[in-house]
Amino acid sequence: MRRISIFGATGSIGVNTLDLIGRRPGEFRVVALTGGHNIDLLAAQARRFDAEIAVTAHSERLGDLRAALDGTGIAAAAGAQALLEAADRPADWIMSAIVGAAGLAPGLHALRHGTTLALANKESLVCAGPLLMAEAAAHGARILPVDSEHSAVFQALVGEDIAAVERVIITASGGAFRDWPLDRLARATVAEASSHPNWDMGQRITIDSASMFNKALELIETREFFGLAPEKIDTVVHPESLIHALVGFRDGALMAHVGAPDMRHAIGYALNWPERRDLPVARLDLAAVGAMTFRAPNPARYPALDLARQVMQARGLTGAVFNGAKERALDHFIAGRIGFLDMAAMVADVLDRLAGDPALTAAHSLDNVRHADHIARRAADDCLPVLAGQS
Ligand code: NAD
Ligand code: MG
Repeated sequence: MRRISIFGATGSIGVNTLDLIGRRPGEFRVVALTGGHNIDLLAAQARRFDAEIAVTAHSERLGDLRAALDGTGIAAAAGAQALLEAADRPADWIMSAIVGAAGLAPGLHALRHGTTLALANKESLVCAGPLLMAEAAAHGARILPVDSEHSAVFQALVGEDIAAVERVIITASGGAFRDWPLDRLARATVAEASSHPNWDMGQRITIDSASMFNKALELIETREFFGLAPEKIDTVVHPESLIHALVGFRDGALMAHVGAPDMRHAIGYALNWPERRDLPVARLDLAAVGAMTFRAPNPARYPALDLARQVMQARGLTGAVFNGAKERALDHFIAGRIGFLDMAAMVADVLDRLAGDPALTAAHSLDNVRHADHIARRAADDCLPVLAGQS
């Protein structure tokens, strides 16, 4: 039986992963499941899949988790160290689906054991792409992309030579506000930004889709994962979300990955790789679809995309700064302290303030990534009085 663990089991990706596992009884042994404050769901998942251990990221919730697992024989643990210990448990396949930079350290632990890492946590690659890739290479571990666009590119590259790739285009739905008048964006509320037209995802990535910070992260993720020059990577707004990415080759051919917007496809591809197996995703009826449309993203509507270009050029630990500032800006927006457009202003300001800081050119190590993340969050907080005063 294949031994699998899921980090971020209680989130949108985690639930979809367990949905696929649950359809194949007897094939998988669930080792560790981790979550946050949703103890009831975590315990229910651990019971249903008879996990070896359930871990909540929050130390103060250990008592609740123990109580919820009472009498099952399933171990309970809590806190950051417990997450790392869970990642050290022998497994064949680990899903990395914690949201944010918090997903990096458990993923690195898994790679050090040579475990195959199914990577939904794009923030890991944005903060520490070279570190992650080096750890994987050093320990013979494989990283499989789970972000739908990157899974699409990965699939289009099967049997191809990366040197023949001229360009990669990842599509963007355009998010909740793609058709809003620009002057209304500044007043967009958290509730409005939290509803996605096509995809059902966690709240943070849904808001990041509305601002296109999600696509910004994904442009950087494309560079780090596939090792492509930034000029070869682009995005196009495709409101139907049926084509997930296209790979253009030197002979002019464009290979597109087309499918219903259902994350179980990308998760299932990573779970079954290198095989293809049946997946419970809708089959597209192209005649019913009728048309697919595309348009260039308006830079005024999506300033995050230009910031991503800046980060792709700078590299070093600029990605960790970008992500840390973005996470903090999102915290402030969700808490009602800044407006929707202030998020991009805050991240731009942090990149300016920290440009030239020696922390950004330090070697790629977990400590240095954490330091860059920390100073970015602090710099974001320093911008708060000015931005909060304006909104
Ligand atoms: P989510 O918010 O639904 O779930 C996040 C999970 O991480 C939960 O289990 C939560 O308890 C856990 N978590 C949150 N903060 C944590 C912390 N500090 N430490 C440890 N655990 C923590 O998020 P999601 O939508 O499932 O996204 C997960 C990851 O997958 C993100 O990196 C996201 O960008 C990526 N992703 C998601 C989708 C999608 O369809 N949801 C698509 C592509 C990529
Ligand atoms: Mg994506």
